[in-house]
Amino acid sequence: MVKETIRVYARVKPLGRRQQAGIYSVDNDEKSLSSLEIIVPRDLADGFVNNKRESYKFKFQKIFDQEAKQDVVFDSVAKPVAECVLAGYNGTIFAYGQTGSGKTFTITGGAERYSDRGIIPRTLSYIFDQLQKDSSKVYTTHVSYLEIYNECGYDLLDSRHEASRLEDMPKVTIMEDPDQNIHLKNLSLQQATNEEEALNLLFLGDTNRMIAETPMNQASTRSHCIFTIHISSKEPGSATIRHSKLHLVDLAGSERVAKTGVGGHLLTEAKYINLSLHYLEQVIIALAEKNRSHIPYRNSMMTSVLRDSLGGNCMTTMIATLSIDKRNIDESISTCRFAQRVALIKNEAVLNEEIDPRLMIVQLKKEIQELKDELALVTGKQRTSELSQEELLQLDELIEAFLEDNDPDSILDVGVDMRKIKYCFIHLKQLMNHSKISDKKLLSQHTSNKKDSNKEAGEEELKKLKELLQQRDNEINILVNMLKKEKKAQNAVFHLNDAFAGSTVLEQSLSVNLEERKSPSSSFSLKEAENFSSSLHRLTFLSRETGGKMSLGCQEAFEVFKRDHADSITIDDNNQLLKQRFAEAKCLGEKLNEVRNKINHLKGKITQRHIQRAALAVSSPSEELNTLDPVEEKLRTQIEEEKKSYKTMFNRLKELKLEIEHLQLLMEKGKVKLQKDFEVWWSEEAINLQQEKPEMISSTNTMTVYPQFIKSVQHLSTDSFSETTRVSPNEDSAGKNNSITSSNPSLKARTPPSSSTSIPLTGDSQADADILAFIKARQNILQKKGLGNK
Ligand code: ADP
Ligand code: MG
Repeated sequence: MVKETIRVYARVKPLGRRQQAGIYSVDNDEKSLSSLEIIVPRDLADGFVNNKRESYKFKFQKIFDQEAKQDVVFDSVAKPVAECVLAGYNGTIFAYGQTGSGKTFTITGGAERYSDRGIIPRTLSYIFDQLQKDSSKVYTTHVSYLEIYNECGYDLLDSRHEASRLEDMPKVTIMEDPDQNIHLKNLSLQQATNEEEALNLLFLGDTNRMIAETPMNQASTRSHCIFTIHISSKEPGSATIRHSKLHLVDLAGSERVAKTGVGGHLLTEAKYINLSLHYLEQVIIALAEKNRSHIPYRNSMMTSVLRDSLGGNCMTTMIATLSIDKRNIDESISTCRFAQRVALIKNEAVLNEEIDPRLMIVQLKKEIQELKDELALVTGKQRTSELSQEELLQLDELIEAFLEDNDPDSILDVGVDMRKIKYCFIHLKQLMNHSKISDKKLLSQHTSNKKDSNKEAGEEELKKLKELLQQRDNEINILVNMLKKEKKAQNAVFHLNDAFAGSTVLEQSLSVNLEERKSPSSSFSLKEAENFSSSLHRLTFLSRETGGKMSLGCQEAFEVFKRDHADSITIDDNNQLLKQRFAEAKCLGEKLNEVRNKINHLKGKITQRHIQRAALAVSSPSEELNTLDPVEEKLRTQIEEEKKSYKTMFNRLKELKLEIEHLQLLMEKGKVKLQKDFEVWWSEEAINLQQEKPEMISSTNTMTVYPQFIKSVQHLSTDSFSETTRVSPNEDSAGKNNSITSSNPSLKARTPPSSSTSIPLTGDSQADADILAFIKARQNILQKKGLGNK
C-alpha cells in the first residue's frame, strides 16, 4: 500500500505574440517543492482584487515554465505514474486549467510536430516498451476513451460516432455493484496488443471528438475526456492476476462566470461554467477536510468515474495549466488555488491483485488432497470406501502418462492412499500380462500356427478316413452277403437256363461289366451317356462335383437297380420321346430363325426400293410416285407367304414346348419313384444283413451309416437326373428341374463333404466286378419272374 498526497505540477503555456505577459516568477527548488509567485498588476488589483495583496505564492511539485518540452513533462509527471501502473497500482493524471491554457496540448499533444506528442502517446509508448521487456509475466492491454459532456457519457471508440451526432450516440452510464465499485455500461474496452494499435485507437477517439464538436456545443472546451489504459498481468502458473488502470484526463475549461467580484468577493466564489467542475471542487474540499465522512462523489458523472483517483486507491497526479497573460491572471490564480487544495488530498494506492477462481479451485483441491493424504499417513487409518469412478479414471490417466513418459526418472505419484497404490499395481499387472500374452501370440503365431493347423488338418483327415473305412466295411459286408445269396440263386438259374433268354443278358452284362471294369472309366461313361441311366463314371463325377458322400458300392448298386427296374423301360421310352421332341424343337427353332431373317431381308429390300423410287422421282419428275410398283408388290407377297409358314412353325413349336414340359414332368416322377424304391430296397438289405451276421458290421456305426447312404444316393441321383433333363431349351422346364432338386434341401444340406470318390469297392477290381455281376443277375431274374424290383 502506498499512501501519499496527490502530486500537483504546474505548467505555464508560452505566451502568444500579441499577449501581454503577466508578472510571475518560478522558483524550482531541486530539494523541496517549487514555488510560483504571481504578481497582480496594480490596475487589475484596483479593479476587482481589492484585498490589497499584490502577490500570490503557490507550491507545486514542479513548475514547467514556458520553454519546457513535452518529453521533460512526460519524464517528470507521467513516467512515475506509468511505472506504478505497470506494477499493478491504479494511476491518474489529470490536467486542470482554463480553456486555451494547454490541457489538451499537455495530455494529448500538438498535431504539428512529432516532438509535440503529449502524455498519452508517450505513456503508451513507454508502457508497451516495458511490457515487451518483461517476459516474466503475461500481459493483456485494453483501452477505453470516455467523453463526458453535460453529465452524459459517450464512448469515443464507438464506430457509430462517424455516422451519428453526439446526441444520438448510446450513452455511457454508471453502474455500482454492492461493493461500491463503479462499472461503466456502453463503454467499450478495445484490446490493444501493441503501441501502434493503441495509438490508432487514440487517433480514432480524438477524431470522433472533433466530429461531434460544433460551434454550439463547444464540446472540446466543455467536456471532460478520460483516456484509460487497462493492464492485466499474470505470472505463468500463478493463480494471481493483477489489474490496473491509468486514467489520462483532459478536463473541461475551468473558467468561471462572475469576473466582477465587487465588494470583498473572492475569485473563488465565482461560479464554474462547467457544473461538474463545481462538483469536483466540492469533492476536493470535502476530501481536504479532516473527519469528513461523506464525500459527494455521486453528484456528477465525472467525480463518480474518478472516485478512486480522488481520495481512493490510486496514484494521482495533477497538472495545473496556466496561461499567464495579463488578462488571465485571475483565472491562473484560481487554478493555482484549486491545485493547492488538491495537493492536500491523501490517496491510498493498493495493489489490485485478484485470484483466478478456476486456478484457485485447482490449487485448493490439490491442497485438500495433500492434507487428506497426510492425515491418513499420520493416523495410520486407511480409507475403506471404494474409489470413485472419477478417481479410477484419473488413476488410469496417470498410469498411461507414466508409461508413455520416456523420461527414466518420471514417477507415478498417486499420493499415500493405499487404495490407489493397490489399484495402480493391479492395473500395471494386467497391462503386463496382456502384453506378455500378445507377445507370445505374436511369436508363436509365426511358428506354431503352421504346426497347429497342420496337426489339426491331419487329425481331421484321419478321422474322416476312419469313418470312410467303416462305411466301406459295412458296404462290403452287404455286398458279400448279397454275393452269397446270389450264389444260391445261381444254382437255380442254371436249371432254368433254357426257359429264360435272360441267360444271354446275364452273360452280356457280365462280360460288359468286366470289360468296362478293365477299360478306363472315361470310355465307359461316353458309351453309357447315350442311355438314360447315368453312367457309373457320371455318378462318380457328380459325387465329386456335389461333394456327395455316396460310395462307389452304393452308386453301382443304384445303377444296377435302376437298369433292372420295371419303370425304367417307361422312363427310357419317355426319354427317347423327349430326345425326339427336343431335336424336333431344335430344328423348328432354327427354321423359325431362318424365316425371320428372310422376312427382315425382304423388308430391307422394300425400303431400298422406296429410296430408289424417291431418287428417281427427283431426277425425272414425270415418274408417278403413287403408281403401284410391281417389284414392291412381289416382295410384299413373298413376305406374306413367309409370314404364314412362320406362324405355322411358331404354333408347332409352342405345342412341342408343352409336350416337352409334360414329358419332363413324367420323367421326374418316374425318377423319384425309382429312387424311393432303391432306398427301401437298400435299407431292407442292410437290416437283413444285420440280422444275419451282426458280427460282420461294426455295431456302433451301422445305424448311423445307412441313412447316410440313402440320403447321399437320393441327393446325387436327383442331381444327376436334372443334369440329364437340362438338355431342354425351355427355361421353364429347367426351372421345374431346379424346383425338384431343391425340394429336398435338408438332405442336401446334411450331406457331408467327401474326398473319397476314387476309392474302389474292395480294392480288387475282379472281386468288384463279380459282386456287381451277381447283383445284376439277381435283379434280372427276379424281374423276369415278375417279383418286382426287390
Ligand atoms: P486547452 O486544451 O487547455 O483548451 P490547448 O491545449 O488546446 O488548450 O492549447 C491552446 C493552444 O495553445 C493550442 O494551439 C496549443 O497548440 C497551444 N499550446 C498550449 N500549450 C502549449 C505549449 N506548452 N507549447 C506550445 N504550444 C502550446
Ligand atoms: Mg483542450
